[in-house]
Amino acid sequence: MQRIYLDNAATTKLDSKVLDAMMPFFTEQFGNASAIYSYGRETRMAIEKSRRFIAQAFKTTPSEIFFTSCGTESSNTALQGAVRDLKVEHIITSPIEHHATLYTCQYLASQYNRKLSYVKLSEHGQIDYGDLEKLLQETSGKTLVTLMHANNEIGNMLNLERVSSYCQEYNALFHTDSVQTVGHYPLDLSKLHIDFLSASAHKFHGPKGSGLLYINKNNQIKPSILGGGQERNMRAGTENIANIVGFAKALELAMESFEEDKAYVQALKERLKTKLITAIPNLVLHGDVDGNSLYTILNVGFPMNDSTEMLSMNLDIQGVCVSGGSACTSGAQGGSHVIRNVYPNASVVPIRFSFSKHNTTEEIDRVVELVAGLINKQ
Ligand code: PLP
Repeated sequence: MQRIYLDNAATTKLDSKVLDAMMPFFTEQFGNASAIYSYGRETRMAIEKSRRFIAQAFKTTPSEIFFTSCGTESSNTALQGAVRDLKVEHIITSPIEHHATLYTCQYLASQYNRKLSYVKLSEHGQIDYGDLEKLLQETSGKTLVTLMHANNEIGNMLNLERVSSYCQEYNALFHTDSVQTVGHYPLDLSKLHIDFLSASAHKFHGPKGSGLLYINKNNQIKPSILGGGQERNMRAGTENIANIVGFAKALELAMESFEEDKAYVQALKERLKTKLITAIPNLVLHGDVDGNSLYTILNVGFPMNDSTEMLSMNLDIQGVCVSGGSACTSGAQGGSHVIRNVYPNASVVPIRFSFSKHNTTEEIDRVVELVAGLINKQ
């Protein structure tokens, strides 16, 4: 059976060109980058070349780029460092952040006895910018705002410029989880007031276990992992050279064909949206679908009934990989804190379809046919 993979917000397929770029660092170029002889110099050069490339792509300096093991580690390092070393007394976040942010904020607030505020959400789960400004106006003490650039479940995008200028105006630190947007949009850090930014290679056809943290040079935080002096004393541990090279290569490829890929993937999303609306009565679209929305994600709420309750599992049996969909007996939406917060009263089965440049229109049409068959057969 030909499988159809529509869960690219969870992870993406490694690009074979990325693997080619990584391969020498698993074989001939195996030197420890801290070694001073030729093997070490070679790998050190590969790391610094990758860092330079990424810094150039983000319009920032190499000294502000740190390699980590994943997006989760990046956000943990930024948030912990801000509270521990930059004397943050008040954290402002939203209730629909990724758990890498939410749980870290909750831990830090209780561990260090800091104030934690959740910004209100507007109708489609967008940040209520008026409420954010009010929180910033009323805050006292050093404040950190942490808001994701794009939501990984419903695809809503943050107005980065707006939040960044609020943070500048009210002298707050700003961390953004850009795990769903780096590699999907160009990023110009020279134009934004951002203190910390988290990214992860496996969301744009790079390797898993390869993260990045941008730390603006004005922020001196201490390392969260102690030991050796790697990453300019910020993150101890022998560097994962292949993964670092893989990050840079995946970013290079993504940016090379960004316009083309974006248009193609956006059309797939539109096609699925339009066809599902025609085929399935009473479905709802989650998030700010017709507003500021990521082109890679479509989150659909199917009316809850016997045929939709097991929809993602039944699609899996047909070879279609999608995310979400667990429903619980009370009629609330299974496990998703995002759907629960944005749509507290809805009785739907949420399914996240997420696309990449490897998907085809034939796959989209086949998925609509299968979903319609499963839902309309009862
Ligand atoms: N933040 C967002 C928005 C994500 O989608 C993910 C991935 O699931 C993460 C953080 C965590 O990234 P990683 O898997 O690299 O730890």
